[in-house]
Amino acid sequence: MTAGATVVSPVPPPALLEVMSRPRGEALMLGHVHPDADVLGTLLAIGRCLESRGWTITCAGPHPIPDALAFLPDASRWQTWKTAPRMFDVIVLTDCPNDERTEGLLTGARGASTEVLNIDHHPDNRRYGTMNWLDPTAAATGEMVFDLMNALGDPVTPEIALNLFTAIHTDTGSFRYSNTTEKTFRIAAALTAAGADPALVSDRLYQRRSRDALGTLGEILRRVEVSADGRVAWLAVPRGLASDAFLASEDLVGYPRSIEGVTVAFLAREEQDGVVKCSLRGKGQVAVNRIAQRFGGGGHDNAAGCTLRGGLGEATAALLEAIGLALDNQKS
Ligand code: 5GP
Ligand code: MN
Repeated sequence: MTAGATVVSPVPPPALLEVMSRPRGEALMLGHVHPDADVLGTLLAIGRCLESRGWTITCAGPHPIPDALAFLPDASRWQTWKTAPRMFDVIVLTDCPNDERTEGLLTGARGASTEVLNIDHHPDNRRYGTMNWLDPTAAATGEMVFDLMNALGDPVTPEIALNLFTAIHTDTGSFRYSNTTEKTFRIAAALTAAGADPALVSDRLYQRRSRDALGTLGEILRRVEVSADGRVAWLAVPRGLASDAFLASEDLVGYPRSIEGVTVAFLAREEQDGVVKCSLRGKGQVAVNRIAQRFGGGGHDNAAGCTLRGGLGEATAALLEAIGLALDNQKS
């Protein structure tokens, strides 16, 4: 599939506004694997916006919405597909750096004349759309979509505001990470004024643990390990230790990351026999997306991920070696 026009800018490209503003048939809001609040909030927000402009909307992805995000307005419209049931006139993807992350759904839903709108803030986005609007300076795709709605002149309803606020809240680690900028706060303020309730978002995301979740958390946190030099901390979680719902709702990699002196942290989680999903986090000294890329993954400078084949021990050893090399290179 040939790549289309690409605009790398904080400003929404006029050609994108042009396509979105004139309804022409059926539009699919297509999510990526293990959807988080940035992809879901932005797709649900754009879905609402397109619908109010006369488009027919479908929202779907390869995985369901995690329970912790079921509060997002329009979450009930989300469909989970193994294969795409038909082709669409327009497909909107947000926060999705490459089409493999749709697990074949993009290929299945894309016809020869389908407009594929790729809106993303990942620096390693592969520009698979007919239109690619990329802004790696955005803390979250939620920021980009807020600007998009304003450029379209569409009202930011309380439902859209809650979706976009949650997208930005989670991608910035509740406004704590280095991607948080003055612009982030300006947009968050505008979204709050438009009806997003910050306390409600914190409550839904962090104050709804089940009673036994703390016990599970305690058991898992006992497994945190730190390298001899104190610069790397990690957590290896074997299969069966915690439910998928627990793992989806807890920011486990944040715990090894929180140790003083740690520059790279990772979570290695055995998803199935021989498949280990890894989340990497940095603090500015080492670009962890480069490490993830060595294993076929990617992401941002300070937050990236990849999937390794093999056992949990092997995956952990391979990551530690790659991180060690990256840290050594950084010294020289
Ligand atoms: P997380 O560790 O929270 O799953 O993901 C952190 C960041 O890394 C996100 O921006 C996500 O898109 C990216 N990421 C996670 N896993 C993968 C992967 O397997 N491939 C790519 N290209 N990016 C990933
Ligand atoms: Mn994002």
